[in-house]
Amino acid sequence: MLGLKTDWSLDVLPRYFTLEDYEGGVARWCPGCGDHGVLSAVQRICRDEQLLPEKTVCVSGIGCSSRFPHYMHTYGFHGLHGRALPVACGIKARRPDLTIWVATGDGDCCSIGAGHWIHAIRYNMDMVVMLFDNNIYGLTKKQTSPTTHRGFRTNTHPDGAWLPPLNPAESTLGFTNVSFVAKTVDWNPPHVLATLRAAYEHRGTSFVHIAQRCPQYTAGVFEEAQRDPTLVLLLKDEKGIPVDPGVDRIFTNQMAHDPSDLGAALEVARREDVIPIGLLYQNAKRPLYDAFCQKGLEMTVEEKLEALEGELDRFAI
Ligand code: SF4
Repeated sequence: MLGLKTDWSLDVLPRYFTLEDYEGGVARWCPGCGDHGVLSAVQRICRDEQLLPEKTVCVSGIGCSSRFPHYMHTYGFHGLHGRALPVACGIKARRPDLTIWVATGDGDCCSIGAGHWIHAIRYNMDMVVMLFDNNIYGLTKKQTSPTTHRGFRTNTHPDGAWLPPLNPAESTLGFTNVSFVAKTVDWNPPHVLATLRAAYEHRGTSFVHIAQRCPQYTAGVFEEAQRDPTLVLLLKDEKGIPVDPGVDRIFTNQMAHDPSDLGAALEVARREDVIPIGLLYQNAKRPLYDAFCQKGLEMTVEEKLEALEGELDRFAI
């Protein structure tokens, strides 16, 4: 009938996705903002891995970097301030088949979202968490954030920030069940790409701390490290993040670091004389909460009702 097959099946042509297929709206970040480069790296990984756009979700909270989902042509959830991680965990719990990228900032994650940060790391569900750290609340125009350096003048501390800044990588390494912590700098695109690729390949919560330039409000914070690459310390190990020869040539200040050594990772993360980049810590054997959350997903409604009735019957008098 009308040339249709009797079994109604359709021949779906294999799809190939180009970079453009992952591009959402035009990014409205300021020119020179470090967020642009990270967005390009994620789009490139999606293209290289041929991730299905309809099976990819970008989740964010509030802040400049949290506009990320709008710029990806995938599913997205631009949530409430500090709430990117619980949303992402919820999605993963019911849809383990989806690839999840979380975009959060130093204000979003390390301040109002800090409680969620601790527990998302402990849950260790399979997702990539990108912490865009520009040391400031950019979207709300220059308030002190948890990572603002002491003495840096902001609208909330015009005479300079008072408290020592929080160190997101060090903190994350201290959380129970941590399984992957890496650091990168937005001004070296090949290193950003290699780091995010390693994070994507890790099964568990991959926490990537990104030193992110904000020319609008914290211009100059990373200028010295940009001018003098020896202020960046490249971590090297065969279990670490493989990098292009070009990255090796730029970052000549290098250190051997075994990413399975949590104590050594904490020591490196605490260094203030340099910005360590690379894989600080990885433990692929940590338990994943995904496995628990996915229980019952395959059950039909009837099976669920039957199981529920069975449970209730246990308390029948
Ligand atoms: Fe980027 Fe800063 Fe502009 Fe926000 S204010 S878009 S972080 S440069």
